[in-house]
Amino acid sequence: MISFLPLGGANEIGASCFYLNIEGSGIILDCGTHPQKNGIESLPHFDLLSSLPVDVSLISHAHQDHIDALPFLIQKHPYAKIYTTPQTRGIAELTLHNAVGIMQEQLKEQNIFHPYTHEEIDLLIQSIQWKTYQERFLINGYRHGSAESIHASFHDAGHILGSAGIFIEHDNRTIFYTGDISLDAQFVLPGANIPKSNIETLIIECTHGATEDVLLPDRNEEKIRFASRANQILEKGGSILIPVFALGKMQEMLAMIGRLMHKGTLAAVDVYTGGLGKKLTHIYDKNRYAVPFNNPDEILEEYQHRDLYKTEQLMDVMRTPSIILASSGMVVEGTASFKLAQLWMQHKKNAVFLVGYMDSSTPGYRLQESNSGDTIQLTDTTEPQTIRCSIDRFRFSAHSSRERLMEAIQQIAPKNIILVHGEPESIDWMGNEILSILPKTKVHAAELGKQIFIK
Ligand SMILES: [Zn+2]
Repeated sequence: MISFLPLGGANEIGASCFYLNIEGSGIILDCGTHPQKNGIESLPHFDLLSSLPVDVSLISHAHQDHIDALPFLIQKHPYAKIYTTPQTRGIAELTLHNAVGIMQEQLKEQNIFHPYTHEEIDLLIQSIQWKTYQERFLINGYRHGSAESIHASFHDAGHILGSAGIFIEHDNRTIFYTGDISLDAQFVLPGANIPKSNIETLIIECTHGATEDVLLPDRNEEKIRFASRANQILEKGGSILIPVFALGKMQEMLAMIGRLMHKGTLAAVDVYTGGLGKKLTHIYDKNRYAVPFNNPDEILEEYQHRDLYKTEQLMDVMRTPSIILASSGMVVEGTASFKLAQLWMQHKKNAVFLVGYMDSSTPGYRLQESNSGDTIQLTDTTEPQTIRCSIDRFRFSAHSSRERLMEAIQQIAPKNIILVHGEPESIDWMGNEILSILPKTKVHAAELGKQIFIK
């Protein structure tokens, strides 16, 4: 018997965590926290696992909402084996250490889980077994109740460095979990390389299920629009702030900007990065021959000229026209991009370029929905501020459009589909569309705590 139980990230984006039971073997697919929640609230519902075996944890990629709850899972299930790609393991070593301080702060008053330490992260990282793309490995649990073994393998998902879709095989039955996926090439990474046949059950992300095609413009056209608008700002002596996620978006934007400057399409000004994002760019560079890259000879670190965190006065970064890539991507309070945005808004010559998805609860969303001349509060508790700089919006997504996902689904034509990682309207769109093109396919919308038996 095979069953599937969502512990988080079912009909929302955040805290992705799914429990799969195959003939008594307990398999966790992803184990993330919710970026817009704090402390215990941000974790998957591990209580749903109370009497269930947990043997193995397979992690699709190192974004916070897919891996950051792993230290808490291991507190409750210390003997569970963990598997990732080598790149995800390398990234997690940086990002999980980076999260230690934040979690210690958030979990002060709570005691169901104890905040983990840097030593515990070291042990956790050492215990991760890494498997390269396409490598098939055995994941039978302790009480596996079938003569047939369970095997798993990771397949390049094209989303960020080391990202993988997870293929699971047992006794002629197959399950493929996409994790976060980009079927098309981005600037640094080529598109996903996933199995397109022999998938009986497909567990698929629905991030863009409610996003019309026109809202996800062609990456190269968007790049040209970016260059022309950036040149206008820089020529007038302004500086450009680009809030980015440290992992993935930072490296993709760096590659785009570096190439545009190299070609002379974009004015050659100083590019600032720093902190965790800069360290992650180093990991990208180290892996450029290890996994598929569009241009493995390119060194992304050469495109960043100055370190934002080694600048004594933040005002200095605006003295000469420059481009600043700063995390967080959604301009969350307390981060570099939040502090810089407050400074940027005061200066007419400057611009903030928003390049990715904004959750509606974030300051980044409030900026995205505003224009020069508006007075806004970045958060409910900050002072109202009039926006003097320009606000420009671009879209460079690391997730596939719904049209591309539907093409892949039609080609795979699985017997069962489970829709995850999307807002309810995204899941609805995908579900209805699948039913119209594949009437024989059984479609499930994942729901937190609701077990699905896979037949
Ligand atoms: Zn992701």
